[in-house]
Amino acid sequence: MVPDADIPPASLRELLHFYADAGVDEALSEEPSDWFAAGAVQRTSPVEGEMSGGPEGRAIPPDPHRSEAPKAIEGRRSMLPPSPPSTSRTDGEIGRPRHAAIPDGAQVARARELAREAKTLDELREQLAAFDGCNLKFTAKNLVFADGNPEADLMFVGEAPGRDEDIEGLPFVGRSGQLLNRMLAAIGRDRQSVYIANVIPWRPPGNRTPTPIETEICRPFIERQIELAAPKVLVTLGNPSSKALLNTQVGIMRLRGNWQEHRTAGGIVIPAMPTLHPAYLLRNPAAKRLAWRDFLEVKARLAAAE
Ligand code: URA
Repeated sequence: MVPDADIPPASLRELLHFYADAGVDEALSEEPSDWFAAGAVQRTSPVEGEMSGGPEGRAIPPDPHRSEAPKAIEGRRSMLPPSPPSTSRTDGEIGRPRHAAIPDGAQVARARELAREAKTLDELREQLAAFDGCNLKFTAKNLVFADGNPEADLMFVGEAPGRDEDIEGLPFVGRSGQLLNRMLAAIGRDRQSVYIANVIPWRPPGNRTPTPIETEICRPFIERQIELAAPKVLVTLGNPSSKALLNTQVGIMRLRGNWQEHRTAGGIVIPAMPTLHPAYLLRNPAAKRLAWRDFLEVKARLAAAE
């Protein structure tokens, strides 16, 4: 390997640009880790209950220097605090990295069981913080559970946290979140009078699209979160959230603006309005008038329900 000092600054700059373009926008630890070597160790010396489960196993090796998701308890009525930073993610006894060990299908079943067991949003947050079945957790800094007022009659669900959300442990705090705040203000709401969450509660590395199996693993948790929050109206923000929660393959441009239903595992039906994601609106400002229309629909429906 060429020592860093021997690489001309221009080449280092180009390398950084290359990383940034590829979505590598932050370092997970101070020291580099040789994950190929770590994988070899795991292949030759499996630990009981830690195997990645053959071809279905999709473990991204975790960084032993990283910290574990928080076990903070969330007050149901209070505004939600950011998730605190976490503790060591290595297996304490043998010092070996932990990662999702059970095949994905089994993780979905486990997620369903855990989500069903949660009787309050506090419990659900604790279940999620302790759940190791989704590998996105191992590259994220924080669990991004929710923001706003869980007692609100209006709930918004986005896709997955981005960089700013990952750092703060709160959904929609970056540029998309600022636009969402302005859209809320336009219908007389603010973040204290709505409840906000995401389908996926951990940031996918480099903001990549979550895989279908990651969505399936996380879906029972967000469905339970909606069920426990029990809003009068649900707004799904963007295509992935709408598809995941409204059980449809219809694209967001056709779906948006038309009332749908979200059916919870417990059989409760919640009216849902699919609309355009704020990130899309930032890129396509002309589409804001469509989202504006959808928000007015939501406002009218809630006013009629009072
Ligand atoms: N986009 C999302 O879908 N969710 C967030 O929390 C932030 C950006």
